[in-house]
Amino acid sequence: MSSKILIIGACGQIGSELTARLRSIYGIENVIASDISYNNSEVVNSGLFQILDANNYTEVKKCVDRNKIHTVYLMAAMLSAVGEKYPMKAWDLNMNTLFHVLNLAKEGFIKKVFWPSSIAVFGPTTPKENTAQRTIMEPSTVYGITKQVGERWCEYYFNNYNVDVRSLRYPGLISYKTKPGGGTTDYAVEIYYEALKTGQYECFLSKDTRLPMMYMDDAIEGTLQLMDAPAEKIKIRSSYNLGAVDFTPEEIAATITENLPDFKISYNPDFRQAIADSWPQSIDDSIARQDWDWKPKFTLKQITDVMLTNIKID
Ligand code: NAD
Repeated sequence: MSSKILIIGACGQIGSELTARLRSIYGIENVIASDISYNNSEVVNSGLFQILDANNYTEVKKCVDRNKIHTVYLMAAMLSAVGEKYPMKAWDLNMNTLFHVLNLAKEGFIKKVFWPSSIAVFGPTTPKENTAQRTIMEPSTVYGITKQVGERWCEYYFNNYNVDVRSLRYPGLISYKTKPGGGTTDYAVEIYYEALKTGQYECFLSKDTRLPMMYMDDAIEGTLQLMDAPAEKIKIRSSYNLGAVDFTPEEIAATITENLPDFKISYNPDFRQAIADSWPQSIDDSIARQDWDWKPKFTLKQITDVMLTNIKID
């Protein structure tokens, strides 16, 4: 049976690191990376790559057919901050692409699907601390609405059409390899670049805005672990809560100052503050830990060490 993998949106923040990891595990001949543009030279040049518009069902089907794809990782989406600027485009992209992939799986062309959800499925009425898997979910951003609706559809396709779709509610992800793509947690990457480049950072969130975050390696390992788990262990077919660390801008800045004593942070909250205020501060991921042994490795201090050591300023 074919074990070929297609990554859609492979040039993005998560897709690029996922692609590298999947290529190293399954071999470059078995992993096809795709994106709407050539915006990551490492992804484009270090294995099979094709331009693919995930909005175009016919093209996605053609690619799946031609390459005998077994598993799809659907990483193309419009993120929270950009989504608020283009609500209808965010809705169209985030929903159409999911339906295309779910329908290909329903029709038997694909055997397994990974689709990422987000902590943005929660909203201002959700209890903020140690937010449970099942709780009040009234998202107030278009991005959060697409993720919540997407989760419902994933569960529906599993229940009604036996589609093996698996999903994680990622928190804000931090990595030095690829810059983030327009989310509300982007500050937690930008801050390291600015600390090294200019020694200062103006944060678009207030100093005490606590949000759940995760180092990219943990997110990638969690994703692979979920996808490798036997189907009977996957008890949640909407999307699993996934936690690692949580911190405020003031706390992340303090870890930077330990390494760069002259670093200065200032605060100038913009429209993203309201988005952040609607999200949980910390996540209860006990069901993921119980069902398929999820366990993150990186603490905030370790994240800061890795980021400051590895970011290269031109
Ligand atoms: P990103 O914006 O960095 O990357 C998305 C990629 O999709 C880009 O390379 C873009 O070119 C591509 N793309 C856009 N439209 C496309 C189309 N029509 N066809 C094909 N490709 C297209 O996003 P990311 O941060 O890598 O996020 C990936 C997924 O994970 C998204 O679903 C996002 O909602 C989710 N997520 C991300 C985070 C995070 O902190 N990065 C947190 C929670 C959830």
